[in-house]
Amino acid sequence: MAWDFETDPEFQDKLDWMDEFVRDEIEPLRFVLGSPYDLSCPNRQKLIPPLQEEVKKRQLWACHLGPDLGGQGYGQVKLALMNEILGRSPHAPIVFGCQAPDSGNAEILAHYGTDEQKARFLQPLLDNQIVSAYSMTEPHGGSDPKVFKTSAVLDGDEWVINGEKWFSSNARYASFLIVMVVTDPQAPPYNKMSMFLVPKETPGVKIVRNVGVGTGTEEGSHGYVRYTDVRIPKDHLLGQRGQGFVVAQTRLGGGRIHHAMRTIAKVRTAFDQMCERVLSRETQGELLAQKQLVQEKIADSWTQIEQFRLFVLQTAWKIDKYKDYRMVRKDISAVKTVMPKVYLDVFSRALMIHGSLGVSNEMPYSAGVIDSFHMALADGPTEVHKVTVARQLLREYAGTDDLFPTTHLPKLRQAAYDKYAGVLEQEVAAL
Ligand SMILES: Cc1cc2nc3c(=O)[nH]c(=O)nc-3n(C[C@H](O)[C@H](O)[C@H](O)COP(=O)(O)OP(=O)(O)OC[C@H]3O[C@@H](n4cnc5c(N)ncnc54)[C@H](O)[C@@H]3O)c2cc1C
Repeated sequence: MAWDFETDPEFQDKLDWMDEFVRDEIEPLRFVLGSPYDLSCPNRQKLIPPLQEEVKKRQLWACHLGPDLGGQGYGQVKLALMNEILGRSPHAPIVFGCQAPDSGNAEILAHYGTDEQKARFLQPLLDNQIVSAYSMTEPHGGSDPKVFKTSAVLDGDEWVINGEKWFSSNARYASFLIVMVVTDPQAPPYNKMSMFLVPKETPGVKIVRNVGVGTGTEEGSHGYVRYTDVRIPKDHLLGQRGQGFVVAQTRLGGGRIHHAMRTIAKVRTAFDQMCERVLSRETQGELLAQKQLVQEKIADSWTQIEQFRLFVLQTAWKIDKYKDYRMVRKDISAVKTVMPKVYLDVFSRALMIHGSLGVSNEMPYSAGVIDSFHMALADGPTEVHKVTVARQLLREYAGTDDLFPTTHLPKLRQAAYDKYAGVLEQEVAAL
C-alpha cells in the first residue's frame, strides 16, 4: 500500500526550520518594506538578500525548479508543504526564490529559451538580480485570448510590436516582459499568437498606469502597458512562431497550483486568529466559542480548509507522477475554482467573528476578501475553469439512445429478474 499522509522526518525538519524562519525573520518585513519586487528600494536590498543567502545555504532556494536550474528538484508535493508556510507572508516567496510571476516566467524560459535567451534573461531572474512581468491580458478582454489584438510584424531582422496590455503585474519593477502577441492573424485561432521577450527599456514601451487592487487610491503594481512601434530583434521570439498558446499553458498550470498552495497558508492563519478570538471575546455572559452559530463557523472553516488542502496535495502528487500538466489539467482547474471560494468563505467568517475590528484596516480580512477575487481572476476566471472541468469530465462519458437512462430502475429491476430467473423459479416451485 502506498497511501501515506505523513512527511518524512528529514523533510519535516526543514519545514520546522522554515516555519520559525518565516515567522521570525520574514513576516515582520511587511510592516517596514514596500513591494518585495522593488529592487530599487535600498532597505529592501539591505534586508532581503541576506535572508536569501540563508535559504540557499539550507538548500531551500528555488524549489520549484530542477537541479539543472539551481533548484532542488523536490517536486510539487514537497513544494506544496513549503508553500503552506511561505503563503503567510508576501515577502516569503521571493526570499525562497519561488515568487510569481517570475517562477512561471523562468519555467517557460527554461523550457523554450535559446542558450542566449537563458544567459541574458533566465540566469539573472533565477538569481533575483532582476524581476519580470507577464503581459498577456488586454484592456478589452482577458478571459478569451482569441480576441487579443496586440500585434507584431516582421520588418527585416526586427519584430515591431503595437498594442496595449492590461494588469501586467510588476511591470513597474520588471527588467523585461514576456508578451503574448498576434503574429499570424490569418492562421487558425490557436496558432495566431507568439510569445516575445521585451526588455522594458526598449523605446515604445510605456506604462500608462500602475493599477491597484481594492479601494485605496495609491499607485498599484498591475501595469496598463502600451507598446508603440516597439522594435525587438528577431531572436527575442520565445519558442516557435505561432506557439504562443502552448507556451502560455506551460506556465499557467504551475502558477495556478502554486497560488492554491499559498492560499492554504492564508486561510489557516485566518482560522487560527478566528479560534483565538472566539475563546477571548464574551457576549451575553458567555464566550463567543459557546454560541452554536459561531461553532458552525469554526467547524465549516476547518472542514473546508482540510478538504481543499487534500485536493491541492493530491493534485501536486499527480503532477509529480505524470510530469505532464496536460494530464492534470482538469484537477488544476478544479482546484483553481475551489481556491477563491475557500479563501472568501474563511476570511468572511473571520471578519464577521471579529466584528467592527474585523472589517477595519487593523486586521487583514477586508484585504483578504478582495484578494480572494484576485485568486478568482488571475490565470483565468472561475467560470472558464469550471467549463474546462466539465468538458474534460464529460469526455469520459457517453449518452444513450434509449428514451430512459441506462440506470432507470424498472430497467435494472427487469435485468435482475432475468439474471436470477432460474433461482427464483425454483423457489416458487418449492413453495
Ligand atoms: C490581481 C490580478 C493580477 C493579474 N496579473 C496578470 C498578469 O500578470 N498578466 C496578465 O496578463 N494578466 C493578469 N491578470 C489578468 C487576469 O488574467 C484576467 O483578469 C482574467 O483572465 C479575466 O480577464 P478580464 O479581467 O479581462 O475579464 P473578462 O474577460 O472581461 O471577464 C469578466 C467576467 O466574465 C465572466 N466570464 C468570462 N468568460 C466566461 C465564460 N466563458 N463563461 C462564463 N462567464 C465568463 C467571468 O465572471 C469574468 O470574471 C491579473 C488579474 C488580477 C485580478
